[in-house]
Amino acid sequence: MKVTPRAVKIYKPEVLNCPKCQARLKYNYTISNKVVQFTSGRIFRIKNMGYSCPCCNDGNLYISSTANKLAFKGYTYSVKVMLMIYKMKMEHKSRDLICDQLASKGVEISDRNVDIISNKVKEFVNMDYEKNINDSYILQKEKYGEVRFSVDKVTVDDLAFYILYDFYSGDLLALWICKDLEEAKTYFKKYLTDEVKMIITVRPMFDTYQILKKICPKAKMCSYAKF
Ligand SMILES: [Zn+2]
Repeated sequence: MKVTPRAVKIYKPEVLNCPKCQARLKYNYTISNKVVQFTSGRIFRIKNMGYSCPCCNDGNLYISSTANKLAFKGYTYSVKVMLMIYKMKMEHKSRDLICDQLASKGVEISDRNVDIISNKVKEFVNMDYEKNINDSYILQKEKYGEVRFSVDKVTVDDLAFYILYDFYSGDLLALWICKDLEEAKTYFKKYLTDEVKMIITVRPMFDTYQILKKICPKAKMCSYAKF
């Protein structure tokens, strides 16, 4: 069997200080180590390095939001590939056509997987995000004493998908499809409160970063590590 070497990308937490005592976090173990296929057709091994606090010794594990947002938990296609599939399905494109279009980019996928993936994304779009977000506020305050989120924006043609994650657990809380930034703003204004102490998001030169900064002026802003 021919073994294809894959480029490896290793990510550590974007913030390396303990939220409780500010001590420098230390590497503990690799939380996930998986092969992910991107829209370019390229395949990378993505490693998410878990860190913990040597002083608190509380069993809390800190992860990389960047590694976390590249591919949904349990999936080996990038988030963007999955959202592209979902969008094509919404446009009622056939499975064959979707497979062909992806194949033209170098992304290999079976027609069965097209259905599984579009159903999964549909599930995320329709989930009870209000409950997820409220629960996340409560859990984060309990466990870490403060609230942090990770906000990503993924565009597919004319559609923008805004994805909200719990910074600590990496759990997907909301997947909003917005036709413009105004619509995204209404979600941010409603769900990002004064209690948010930190937001990890896209780089400062993008609109999303600037909007989030305005909506949560007290939150520390941090950007995802470069891919
Ligand atoms: Zn600590």
